[in-house]
Amino acid sequence: QEDLFKNVISHAKEYGYIFASSEIYDGLSAVYDYGQNGAELKKNIRDYWWKSMVQLHQEIVGIDAAILMHPTTWKASGHVDAFNDPLIDNKDSKKRYRADVLVEDHAEKILQKAQKEIEKARKRFGEAFDEEQFVNTNERVQRYLSERTEILERLGRSLTNEDLKDVKALIEELDIADPETGSRNWTEVRQFNLMFGTKLGASSETASNLYLRPETAQGIFVNFSNVQKTGRMKIPFGIAQTGKAFRNEIVARQFIFRMREFEQMEMQYFVRPGEELKWYEHWKEVRQKWHFSLGLGEENYRFHDHDKLAHYANAATDIEFNFPFGFKELEGIHSRTDFDLKAHEEFSGRKLRFYDPELKENYVPYVIETSIGLDRMFLAVLSASLKEEELEDGSSRTVLKLPAILAPYKAAVLPLVKKDGLPELAQEIIEELKWDFNVQYDEKDAIGRRYRRQDASGTPLCITVDHDSLEDRMVTVRYRDTMEQKRIPIAEISKVISEETGF
Ligand code: ATP
Repeated sequence: QEDLFKNVISHAKEYGYIFASSEIYDGLSAVYDYGQNGAELKKNIRDYWWKSMVQLHQEIVGIDAAILMHPTTWKASGHVDAFNDPLIDNKDSKKRYRADVLVEDHAEKILQKAQKEIEKARKRFGEAFDEEQFVNTNERVQRYLSERTEILERLGRSLTNEDLKDVKALIEELDIADPETGSRNWTEVRQFNLMFGTKLGASSETASNLYLRPETAQGIFVNFSNVQKTGRMKIPFGIAQTGKAFRNEIVARQFIFRMREFEQMEMQYFVRPGEELKWYEHWKEVRQKWHFSLGLGEENYRFHDHDKLAHYANAATDIEFNFPFGFKELEGIHSRTDFDLKAHEEFSGRKLRFYDPELKENYVPYVIETSIGLDRMFLAVLSASLKEEELEDGSSRTVLKLPAILAPYKAAVLPLVKKDGLPELAQEIIEELKWDFNVQYDEKDAIGRRYRRQDASGTPLCITVDHDSLEDRMVTVRYRDTMEQKRIPIAEISKVISEETGF
């Protein structure tokens, strides 16, 4: 698993997907740039989300709010007072950690111990091994698993000020050491606000303090009435948005999983008070279907329902994905009640209500939110798609089995040789295709090497032009995943690409 993660990171760089930001200056911690292939993949994920959420739902519309917002927004939303992560420093090494992540990682190690025992037994008993029975009867495995559950339960998910002492006590009791230095000399746990501050205005005396938005949601809440009135929207309806968000994360590890500048894809769905839990279940299902539709493997997803809820929520779940470092949050689905709209009413003095013609009643709607990190989705797609395959002839190939609809290039057009009019015919084909698809031309190296290169960068189809093509106007299509090859008329290429890579 660790190797897979390293491979994903180096593959992402080698094939122009992701670079460290300002790399020539040794990079900026937890900030990344998307390269020529990465920008396309990211755009395709965003489009796939937008089409599914906005285009396919008559009652959902999209907006694009500004990153900079009036500073009172963040007082109303609670971010000034409560958008904190628990921070702990190591007194010896001066290294800093998120206290809850330290405990969670410890619990994860205990889980790994249990899994190792299971793996050992599986090897020993072979075919006869029954995992369920083994877990039920093996005391040590049971102890590991229940210890882990207990730790996670005691840690909870959302930590208040009072909880911080408990977390520190938990770190001491579990005898957790600094993972980098082994030292156990910790400071107290304290809250650290994650918002990035900035200034509006030129002179320092008159400039006012602003924040870079830590989530896109508030841009939707403050525009609730604008959209509802101008779009004549009737409840239930949704407002969707994609855009950058910024968080000064304490520990930014794990590549693009936790970044300081990242992109969110969020949708707030406004419903009648009292109907929110029905819609919450509905959106859990819809979002799960969206994920499954990409074919990354249903076993790679699971729900994690929250027991301990944030102050604004009355139900919440994470859709977790099996990243190369284990199951972690990919998307959050929250029933946010009327907390945000009410708070903005209070702070702005403006009414944020809906007149329900059926109920003949004015009310502040309740909100179900679906919130997914575009970069995390990118990492999920990339890590589930990267495969090292053994071929029948004993050789191996690296192939990026991206869902075809998300692939940066849908096809590569390749002249078999660089002469005899083949490059010209290939270019002619590209001239036709380029209006509908992102296609690539490649004439360098032997055809086998070019296929491998396209496999590794994730192109679903290769179209090869050979000498016969000049006579019969037919080309060879090669499929990335099966490596199957088929002869088709030039006139049908477009149809084949559409079928293979369409929405
Ligand atoms: P975490 O517990 O991992 O810090 P969160 O619960 O704070 O995440 P939310 O505030 O619910 O996350 O944000 C919604 C989504 O935005 C997350 O599910 C995740 O996909 C994405 N996200 C949040 N923080 C980051 C980050 N620092 N880098 C990349 N994506 C992020």
